[in-house]
Amino acid sequence: MDTGRVIRDAEEYLQEVVWEVLAPHPRECVLCYAARMLEEHGCDETLRWVGRFRALRSPRATGLEERMRRVGGFCDCEVFLNGYGLAREHLVRDLDTDELEPPDRPPPCAGVARMDSTRPCRVWERVRRAW
Ligand SMILES: [Zn+2]
Ligand SMILES: [Zn+2]
Repeated sequence: MDTGRVIRDAEEYLQEVVWEVLAPHPRECVLCYAARMLEEHGCDETLRWVGRFRALRSPRATGLEERMRRVGGFCDCEVFLNGYGLAREHLVRDLDTDELEPPDRPPPCAGVARMDSTRPCRVWERVRRAW
């Protein structure tokens, strides 16, 4: 018996199961999905979750990763550092610093009109940073 092969098969199977668990919710937008995955699984310094979303929902939207890079998102967490933040109405005022901060629990996804949409829902807006 080829144990190496058995282990490989088992790993492949697990990988598939894991990927199914990691699928976006119905009508969840790319950014809510990526934010949720980042929260649970972290960033591997690639656009892993954005790419995953595209592969599952909109395989032909090949410009999606490029769009993220254009707003400074060279990996999933950078999308949120440089590209998009929660819209103002979702932020809460920190009483210590008097600054608007993201809430502890992110707002639910507002949803996208079409399952294959790669647009962020209205929970998000582009952040403009003065460099
Ligand atoms: Zn990152
Ligand atoms: Zn959303």
